[in-house]
Amino acid sequence: MGFHRKIERGVMAGFGLVAVLCLLVGFASSPARADDLAELLERELREASIQQDAAIQQENDALSTGALDEGGAVPLAPSSAAPAQGGPAVTSIRIGDHGSQTRFVMEISGDAPADYRVFTLSDPFRVVIDVKGVPFRLVEEPVDKHKGFVSGYRYGRFEADTYRVVLDAELPVEISRDFVLDPQSGFGRRIVLDLAPTDLASFNAKSGLPESARPAAPAAEIAAVPVSPPAERLERRRVVVIDAGHGGVDPGTHGRSGVQEKDVVLAFAKKFAEELRSTGRYDVHLTRDSDIFIPLRERVAIARRHKADLFISVHADAIQKPNVRGMSIYTLSETASDKEAAALARKENQSDLIAGLDLQGESPEVTGILIDLAQRETKNYSSRFARTVVDYASQKTRTLDPPHRFAGFVVLKAPDVPSVLIELGFLTNPEDEKQLVSPTWRATMAKTLSRSVDRYFGDRLAEGPN
Ligand code: ZN
Repeated sequence: MGFHRKIERGVMAGFGLVAVLCLLVGFASSPARADDLAELLERELREASIQQDAAIQQENDALSTGALDEGGAVPLAPSSAAPAQGGPAVTSIRIGDHGSQTRFVMEISGDAPADYRVFTLSDPFRVVIDVKGVPFRLVEEPVDKHKGFVSGYRYGRFEADTYRVVLDAELPVEISRDFVLDPQSGFGRRIVLDLAPTDLASFNAKSGLPESARPAAPAAEIAAVPVSPPAERLERRRVVVIDAGHGGVDPGTHGRSGVQEKDVVLAFAKKFAEELRSTGRYDVHLTRDSDIFIPLRERVAIARRHKADLFISVHADAIQKPNVRGMSIYTLSETASDKEAAALARKENQSDLIAGLDLQGESPEVTGILIDLAQRETKNYSSRFARTVVDYASQKTRTLDPPHRFAGFVVLKAPDVPSVLIELGFLTNPEDEKQLVSPTWRATMAKTLSRSVDRYFGDRLAEGPN
């Protein structure tokens, strides 16, 4: 499953020469000189009638010797000035606008090889770059992430040893070239990608996950795992799965201070797990305990693999109006309880897109009468737990009105695991933000939620195995 360089030679054949010229025109400081230079190069290249590979080599040499900078990409961070701490890392990401092309450069410190793969995805248009074994330690973040055809990007851990950058493209683009420059002239090793606009048909023909990036299909697993009868569950310790939303390449939302949802909810999930474990009554599992991305359906699959009795997904919200604040709790419903709930579910369900997953061809729903029946019962229990949480939490912190809402969150779709999604508060509200980053508030709320879990299972136990 090693990565490989994916170069689209068919495209390069027609594009290489033009690209070299466009780039040169783009960087030369004086327009008159640029024209001369371009003409000169064009003549030289024509006369030599060199191969595409040789043309690339020539440009690489020019870049490496410092005759040109990296395609004019604006250095966003003084990469080489930052010594690597604790092994090789991606120290800088740069994006340059060259008119007909947008160039992406990723710089790696140390002597790590550039083991990478690149591919494009549709709906929306995205370019994904995965590197193996080199975490991100960027020296500085660019203020403006909009350059050329790239409207924004994010990066982070994707899988155990895979780190991912996802670029959002404004239009269908193709990876006209990708290559590696070896360390030279104070720069580390660089992965360079050139993006050029293409038509929708060619984009769609080429986009999609490469074989090595295909995840296991948890959707199929949902149909395969039998629903265990309630009686069997009562004989063992209750299993609670806590799901810290987002993670890795998907940061979720953020507050004004720059604090990110993925970090806040992970800190809370860990505290909550600690609190539940300390009662000695539960087997507690986290879907993630580090800054890593987990696909939505995989989170559901994790809950089912552990035969969870309760699944609690933890998030923090954001909204345009900074005065809106308070905790809210969501359970699954085909019909959303209000416009805000529907919008929130849409936003949270985008997690997989944000992280650069290809959702095409995935079966959207699992059907079947047994699952349907289980789901109905599950929904009742989910709602019951949600009401319990509201009872307890509203005594300890501010809640939204109404606090219990319904919408179609993907992460709540296990047919046989009562599931809720808790929005701890709004990172866009200064008071809520202060609470969310406060260990004291988190400890109080973890205790409060733990009590509502006790209450919920206490009630279920009291009513017997039905
Ligand atoms: Zn979220």
